[in-house]
Parts: sequence; C-alpha cells; structure tokens
Amino acid sequence: MRKSVVAIVGRPNVGKSTIFNWLVGERISIVEDTPGVTRDRVYAEAEWLTTSFNVIDTGGIEVSNEPLLVQMRHQAEIAIEESDVIVFMLNGQEGITAADEEVAKILYKSNKPIVIAVNKMDNPKMRETIYEYYALGFGEPYPISGEHGLGLGDLLDTVIGYFPEQHVASRDDDTIYFSVIGRPNVGKSSLVNALLNEERVIVSDIEGTTREAIDTRLHKDDQDFVIIDTAGMRKRGKVYEATEKYSILRALKAIERSDVVLALIDAETGIREQDKKVAGYAHESGKAMILVVNKWDTVDKDEKSMREFEKKVRSQFQYLDYAPMVFLSAKTKKRIHTLTPAIKTASENHAKRVPTNVLNDVINDALALNPVPTIKGKRLKVLYATQVAVKPPSFVIFVNDPSLMHFSFERFLQNRIREAFGFTGTPINIFARKRA
Ligand code: GDP
Ligand code: GDP
Repeated sequence: MRKSVVAIVGRPNVGKSTIFNWLVGERISIVEDTPGVTRDRVYAEAEWLTTSFNVIDTGGIEVSNEPLLVQMRHQAEIAIEESDVIVFMLNGQEGITAADEEVAKILYKSNKPIVIAVNKMDNPKMRETIYEYYALGFGEPYPISGEHGLGLGDLLDTVIGYFPEQHVASRDDDTIYFSVIGRPNVGKSSLVNALLNEERVIVSDIEGTTREAIDTRLHKDDQDFVIIDTAGMRKRGKVYEATEKYSILRALKAIERSDVVLALIDAETGIREQDKKVAGYAHESGKAMILVVNKWDTVDKDEKSMREFEKKVRSQFQYLDYAPMVFLSAKTKKRIHTLTPAIKTASENHAKRVPTNVLNDVINDALALNPVPTIKGKRLKVLYATQVAVKPPSFVIFVNDPSLMHFSFERFLQNRIREAFGFTGTPINIFARKRA
C-alpha cells in the first residue's frame, strides 16, 4: 500500500523545518546512524494517531543560484507533483506578504487539497488575526505554533481527512516490484530501457496510484516484474529534477514500494558521496538489494578487474555485505541477462521463511562453536529462536537477559543463520527478548 504524502511549502523562515522535525521526530535520529546518510533529510515518515504518512519539507530542496521567487515556484511545483495534500505555511506574525501571494498563485493551479497553516501564533491573543488568511481563498486557516506545539492536532486531523482512499490489495503477490536508484547519469533510464528492449514482449504502462507515477511491467525468465518509476527515468527537463535532494526524494518514494532495490554505481566515474547516501537510505528501508555496477564497458579489464572493483565497492559499503554485485553495461547490454536472476533470488530470500526446528538446530550448533558472552560474571543463556516476520526475515531469540547479547555475538549468530539458509540479497534482523 502506498502511503499518502504531505508537502509543506512556504517562504523561508515561516517554520517549515520546525514542523517537519516535530512530525518526523525520533524517526530521523535512528535513520541517521546509517553511514553516509546525512542530517539534511527532506523526506521522512511521520505518524498522527493511527495513520502513518510521508512528509516533504520543500524548503530543503534548493535549486542553486536562483532568486527566491524562482526557488519558491520550484518548491510549490514539487509539492504539487509529489504530494497528496499540501500544507501552505505562513508566518502569523507577519501577515500575508507578496511572496506568499506568489506561492498561492501557483497553488491555485493545482487540484490537490491545500491546507493553510498560520505559524508562530504563540499565544491565544494572536489568533484574532486569523481571519485575514481566509483572503487567500484556500478555506479555513489553522493557527499553529510549531515552537510550542499548539494547534497541530486540528491541522493534522484536517490534513489526514484529505488523504485519498487507498486501494488495498491491488498488488499481485507473485510479481516482483523493483526500482532502479542512483545519482543522475549513472544510467538508470538506460538500464530500464535495455531490460525492456531485450525482451520482445510488449510492455505496458500501468497507471500508478498518483497520476504522475508510471510503473512498467516486464515479463522475463518466467517471472512477472514491475519496474517502479523513479527520478530521471522520464526526462522532462524540469530544473529541479537535476537537484540532489529531489532525486533522493524520488528514490525514497520508489524504494518504499519496492521488494528489491537496484543501487546503480557508475564504473566510469567510481563511487561518489551521493551514491553512499542513496544506498544508505535503501539499506535502512529493509528491502532486498543488489549493487549494480553499470558502464562496465568503459573499464579496461583483465581477469582481476572485477574482483578489484568489488573490493573497492565493498570497503565503501560495508553495511551492504548481503547485497550481491552485478557488473553490466546498459549500453552494450553485456551481462545484462545476469540481472533478472539476481533480482529473483534476492526477492525470494527477502520473503523466505525457515522452519523453527531447523532454525533452532542452527542456533544450537552455533552456540556449541562459540562461547556465549559473559558480562560481569553473568552468562547469556539462549533459550530458543523463532522467525517472526518476512520482508526482511526477522528473528526473535529468547534469552535470559537481552543486555548480555553483545553486538559481536549477534553478528556471529546472524552470519551462522545466513550461512545455513542463504539469505543473499536481503538484510535480516535479530531481536533478543527476555524469557525467564
Ligand atoms: P523554515 O525556513 O520555513 O524551515 O523555518 P524554520 O523551521 O527554520 O524556522 C525559522 C525560525 O522560526 C526559527 O528560528 C524557528 O525557531 C522559528 N519558529 C518556528 N516555529 C515558531 C513558532 O511557532 N513560534 C515562534 N515564535 N518562532 C518559531
Ligand atoms: P540516468 O540519469 O541515471 O537515468 O542515466 P542515463 O540512463 O540517462 O545515462 C546517462 C549517460 O550515461 C547517457 O549518456 C548514457 O548513454 C550513458 N550510459 C548509460 N549506461 C551506459 C553504459 O553501460 N555504458 C556507457 N559507456 N555509457 C552508458
């Protein structure tokens, strides 16, 4: 199921990022532990009551060297294109400014629901001025104070009320959904085109849940695939599409709907900071992953090149040790036939369930091999293990005291489980739980 998306637009300093941070709160700090992922998020998950959704802080997407009004126009366009509901934020201590009116002009053209949030209404007295914001023509304005957390409940109730109805269970379980992510020019659209042209089957575009997202079906090796639309795959020549933040935002949206994520690396230019960022987000989503080295035709090769390149990539992406690497050329189509089998394997492993008795045999053998950790004279006792989830496979290990489960010991158990069941392409989770 696709989560609804809320975009926040408004002039600089009205309080967009304050609200964004309040909404996504702790979630961000967990995410930022992933290597390569920096603190400048513009897209993240939020929750209100029992509804979870995604938020975009359009203020964080800057198109360099453009005057303020142009920037704001781009941000409003991104909001219209990428979200289901738009929160148009104003500064209640300043009233409606000329720049606000410019933003409003763009928003009038969209048919997305727009909710007016008038921020910095820090005390009830200030609310008397709220009526002037009706003049914008977007209906009831909501007075809020991001700093003091006032009025946010009413605002969010209204925002959530505008979420489109979700079409549940439209997904076909046998179909593998995958996305192709990577910084601009790594060859995402070339790869998708190569996959589609190679197959003589007629491909069809499926209308996505939003009007703009177009997914593509592919049938290959006896398997149905859906390629999820990602940034840069259809080039429309909009200025903001070249910005890093926008391409990350689009990648995150695509990752969310994928079973398998193909993270593209350009063999010609090597690894850049942005590659790590994009891959880090994919890793943290818990999806199956494949590292695809594209433009392999540009490398002068001998029998060692592949191994050497792999070593270089592995040292930069240590947390992706479960992701297989595929080397290919979207241009010459060399080795492109190796991709779909890898996607299939990763997807199967991502959804794999292992029998409890076999799992416990594996754990017991592992315990016999390696002494269990002892902390301050207390020894870890492992009682039993069970798989509690798939996508990704997640295991609960019941122990006498979870604080005795050392990171390195958990890592050791994880490796034994991987060796025994073959979880190539998928992350796996292990949780230690107390059981007396
Ligand atoms: P953005 O540029 O729209 O993302 O704005 P920020 O979230 O960075 O906020 C700009 C400034 O306004 C910061 O100094 C905030 O502390 C301040 N601010 C945000 N919300 C409120 C509020 O509710 N009341 C007051 N008085 N200040 C606020
Ligand atoms: P995207 O922005 O990630 O979608 O990248 P494109 O698919 O538009 O490719 C960017 C550039 O790289 C284009 O000029 C492509 O022709 C080129 N390119 C893509 N794949 C390959 C490849 O396998 N080998 C070579 N030599 N060039 C490639």
